[in-house]
Amino acid sequence: MTIGIIGGGQLGMMIAEAASKQGVSCIALDPNPDCSCKYVCKEIICGEYNDISKLEELGKKCDVITYEFENILASPLEFLVKNYNLPQGIRQLFDSQNRIREKDNARKFGLLTPPYRKVTSKEELISALDEIGYPAIYKTTTLGYDGHGQYKINCLADVNNVVLAAEGILEGYVKFDYEASIIMIRDKEKIVSLPIAINKHKNGILDLSIVGIEKPIFNEIKKASYQFMIETNYYGILTIEYFVKDDKFYFNEMAPRPHNSGHYSIEGATFSQYDLLVNYLVGKKLEEPKLISPTIMKNILGFDYDVFKNFKPSENVYLHDYHKKEVREKRKMAHITFTNLTLDEYQSKYKNMFKGEEE
Ligand code: AMP
Repeated sequence: MTIGIIGGGQLGMMIAEAASKQGVSCIALDPNPDCSCKYVCKEIICGEYNDISKLEELGKKCDVITYEFENILASPLEFLVKNYNLPQGIRQLFDSQNRIREKDNARKFGLLTPPYRKVTSKEELISALDEIGYPAIYKTTTLGYDGHGQYKINCLADVNNVVLAAEGILEGYVKFDYEASIIMIRDKEKIVSLPIAINKHKNGILDLSIVGIEKPIFNEIKKASYQFMIETNYYGILTIEYFVKDDKFYFNEMAPRPHNSGHYSIEGATFSQYDLLVNYLVGKKLEEPKLISPTIMKNILGFDYDVFKNFKPSENVYLHDYHKKEVREKRKMAHITFTNLTLDEYQSKYKNMFKGEEE
């Protein structure tokens, strides 16, 4: 059995690691022959994600296909779905590729979102600000990730700092208590989900995922997210990120692939998001994952990579290096999972070791 992965980054690498534990091999398609997947996949098909001939090669060599990368065009995907085995289908991927479409879809299927307006010009931005008020946040509708192309607007003068994309979205800024994410995996029988993570970001990039703090609202988040998965008729893996404010939770975005906030599950849960995705892809029964202990995942960006390289693994401290050749300041290079550790303990033991830590 071979799984084909579109994208050869760290998410693909961790899918392939989980697959190999089950005796399943993987082939990844990536433009970079030195991508993270190189270290675990039996082959890297070197090519662009939208190149039909490369997708065809992947399809022919693999029994089942998944993706760890979201920005694949609709037409190559349709080609794949028609001709090969992509059990997740393409609808959730398509729905997630544009922030306006994604939020329209979330609202249509019962989830609350921050207020938002489509923006294609400075005039539209100003009139959207009139309606939504301050603070607000401007984002590109497509190809945005980790805070790229985003501007917080606190007053009218801030409009001058915004570099407008051909199409953007203005969202009301939610002064949330915290951010939370749920990762669900659904097959024909049932939905299972990982324990909900509380996520802390720094400059728009995930910094810490904290798991093991139970909030009463998590039951409601789980119920609404399962309902969303069922009503949209999505299968496979889906992550939804929410902003939680008092007794409300606002849909921010979704990703139909494993998620950074689920890395903790490799050591922190009885089944990881990667194990469950592999089970889904190879048609094995899905089991409900359970948290093993309070767990914290710390993302390592380029500016902390040297600290990471000097870090020693020890009991309850697990190092994951993505083997990226090029180190860039804000590039995700690695992560550390601390099991059996609360946030207070993390802060007193480790917080000062890293730069860019949440204040
Ligand atoms: P995104 O790319 O939409 O996930 O945004 C990156 C991060 O920016 C989020 O995880 C939040 O920390 C922050 N952010 C984005 N949109 C909003 C919003 N509407 N209100 C408050 N914070 C936001």
